[in-house]
Amino acid sequence: HLSKLPIIGTNIFTEMSALANKNKAINLSQGFPNYPSSQKLNDLVNHAMNNGYNQYAPMAGNLDLRLAIANKYKLLYNKTYDPEKEITVTAGATQAIYTIISTFIRSNDEVIIFMPAYDCYEPAVKVNGGKTIPIQLSAPDYKVNWKEVASKISPKTKMILINSPHNPSGTIWHKEDMLELQKITKGTNIIVLSDEVYEHILFDGEQHQSACLFTDLKERSFITASFGKTFHNTGWKIGYCCAPDYLMDEFRKVHQFNVFSVHHPSQKGIADYMQDPETYLGLNSFFQQKRDLFLDLISESRFKFKPSKGAYFQVLDYSDITDENDVDFAKRLIKTYGIASIPLSVLSQKGKDDKVLRFCFAKTDKTLRAAADILNKI
Ligand code: PMP
Ligand code: GLN
Repeated sequence: HLSKLPIIGTNIFTEMSALANKNKAINLSQGFPNYPSSQKLNDLVNHAMNNGYNQYAPMAGNLDLRLAIANKYKLLYNKTYDPEKEITVTAGATQAIYTIISTFIRSNDEVIIFMPAYDCYEPAVKVNGGKTIPIQLSAPDYKVNWKEVASKISPKTKMILINSPHNPSGTIWHKEDMLELQKITKGTNIIVLSDEVYEHILFDGEQHQSACLFTDLKERSFITASFGKTFHNTGWKIGYCCAPDYLMDEFRKVHQFNVFSVHHPSQKGIADYMQDPETYLGLNSFFQQKRDLFLDLISESRFKFKPSKGAYFQVLDYSDITDENDVDFAKRLIKTYGIASIPLSVLSQKGKDDKVLRFCFAKTDKTLRAAADILNKI
């Protein structure tokens, strides 16, 4: 066999965006903003580019940026990450996740993942010879049964991958979940990979429960984050991860030969931009307005929903409209109605179809209004 990933095809986000473009549909499928990122940030990156930041950044990332990240953890969570040893800048969260997995996962190691799951987790485990142990969650609450999680832990469990706020469901984990996770991993060698790319996007006054807030968890966790999500520029592909130094040492051994370092002027520009914490603290209210607008506009539609609690996705239940499976329905929505979404079954265990679709609301109000006009007619 040539292929290490024989059953993996083109990912759903690429597929649905392509279908949306082909059909000139409103694209609420792939998660990316359709409005410009901040002019001030763009100017700071240009300034860096015009002022000498054009050669390799340090392997771990531009130091000003690592300092800005460390300051953020101090300010928001009162936690310390040493910028020299415990923070590394990456080519988006995707690279951080891939590199973390390839640094630690050996043949036959088990990685627990909660499904539906963001699509890059499972292939990264498989290509590195590991095995995913899926725990399927269900609409509309996607609540974790911690007894079930405990029953899936074995001596082969090397890693547990978590993601709150959650893509695709828009649910969040509460303090009790994090305490359960801390309890069942205590005294083990399990590494927790906490995908926190939507940490600054929570609604209705909810607080983000970062893994770093829990002393025992912090000691075994990698946290990954993405500036593409925070600063509305998914195309820049700048993110980072942080972890205690004994984990980060190992990560950097792989990172330096895989990527070495990432786009330097963007790092310097982002570092300067982050000097004002409002740049990331303002995100909650920015997206709360968009979620509220979208849900208000579709409140009379035939779709059912529980309001998203975090991330920039809203899941809509279409079971009152049709019995079709979610992939067929999503494709029909594009071709017949001109609106694109993501079917959750594709991110779930085979055969799991809760008849829900994910809609991205990181869009201009005009786009959200046009999308709602269509959804109200279905
Ligand atoms: N994790 C989750 C949950 C995501 O939604 C995304 C972005 N789609 C990523 C990781 C990857 O982030 P990046 O674009 O920075 O690689
Ligand atoms: N994170 C984006 C989403 O969930 C997609 C990223 C990608 O296209 N790979 O829609």
